[in-house]
Amino acid sequence: MATEFWNQKIETKPLDELKNLQFKRLRRLMEYIYNNNKFYHKKLRDAQIKPDNIKSLNDIQKLPFLTKQDLREFYPFGLVCTKMDDIVEVHASSGTTGKPVVGPYTYNDVEIWGEVMARSLWANGLRNNDILQNSYGYGLFTGAHGFEKGAQKIGASIITISSGNTKRQVNVMKDFGSTALACTPSYSMYIAEVAEEMGFDPKKDFKLKIGCFGAEAWSEEMRNNIEKRWGIIAHEHYGLTEVIGPGVVSECREKRLHVNIDHFLTEIIDPETGETLTTGEEGELVYTTLTKEAFPVLRFRTKDLAVYYEEECECGRTLPIQSRIKGRSDDMMKIKGVIVFPSQIESALMKVEGVSDNYQIVKTKQGNIISLSVEIEPTYNRHKEGHLDALEKLAEEEIYSILNLNVPVKAIPPKTIPRSNGKAKRVIER
Ligand SMILES: [Zn+2]
Repeated sequence: MATEFWNQKIETKPLDELKNLQFKRLRRLMEYIYNNNKFYHKKLRDAQIKPDNIKSLNDIQKLPFLTKQDLREFYPFGLVCTKMDDIVEVHASSGTTGKPVVGPYTYNDVEIWGEVMARSLWANGLRNNDILQNSYGYGLFTGAHGFEKGAQKIGASIITISSGNTKRQVNVMKDFGSTALACTPSYSMYIAEVAEEMGFDPKKDFKLKIGCFGAEAWSEEMRNNIEKRWGIIAHEHYGLTEVIGPGVVSECREKRLHVNIDHFLTEIIDPETGETLTTGEEGELVYTTLTKEAFPVLRFRTKDLAVYYEEECECGRTLPIQSRIKGRSDDMMKIKGVIVFPSQIESALMKVEGVSDNYQIVKTKQGNIISLSVEIEPTYNRHKEGHLDALEKLAEEEIYSILNLNVPVKAIPPKTIPRSNGKAKRVIER
């Protein structure tokens, strides 16, 4: 069993001891941010809270939330709690929905990041004899760097290929004998598509056995397709620039996401009222970073919806579990009174034989009324067969069975929908 864990002492520590550790670290964090950052100091003073008012873990519920709006207001370095001299690395989100979120790190922050990423990759089965093809985009984005730090701690060989130039990805995978691939799930499917066009069989012609995928929402059905197409085990990764980057959770062999709660205190709240929910209920994830120095966050609202469990897992980890993300509350659509998440539509489509992994959801706005339709690319063989109206009908029925909503589906020729090297754009507006 010893080889099951990267950090057995923490990953199998009894939950009450983990919570004691969290409480000690929360108290220390409160003192630290209260004394070292003007914004946090004011925020806590406005809420009439002093660090020593925190007498138990539950007292965290008295503390104010931190939102994306706050982060924008203090862009880029307003929430930094150390001297700028102590910062050794800076990352940032893409800023697609406004100003980017900036993630500065001290040397210790980088060490912690490497540690939690090593836990995650180790849980996926990565060892020092593995060759990890790191096909996340190197740049400001945290993804590629987090995977590199974790894999380096384990001692695996990292191929720093970054994303793009997909034919070269295939050649490198073949020639270097990559055994693990890290990228977005949609990009892994595009690499498979290009490999097939180059005459390879993704299942047989490569040494790949582990997929480390994240940075976009993907359904269990998509996971099954990826595993079948590549002949690998595909693991989920989850993280946020605000919290540390990837490495917030480790997906174990049971495919459950264990939260590294010794560093990231996790709460689940009602997204409407902000009230704390009990474990097992679905709500919005909220994180507090317990050990970060440069840019700690206190009760950061993620807008990601999930369920949080405190229960034992077959793998032996005692770290609590969070479900896969159902969707971001921002992505939620209300169509004719029905709540719809893009991932639900993906689940339906992936169940239909003859539909490829390439699809897009088209949102049309007329006045205040939003309507949805879906465009799918059939697989090459299915496209050749013709009678695509039958395929469209099957897809519509599958969507109806999940959502109870009629969403028209249109089959369009293969290779029509733009491919992405990073995050796929699944919802477009027309
Ligand atoms: Zn587990």
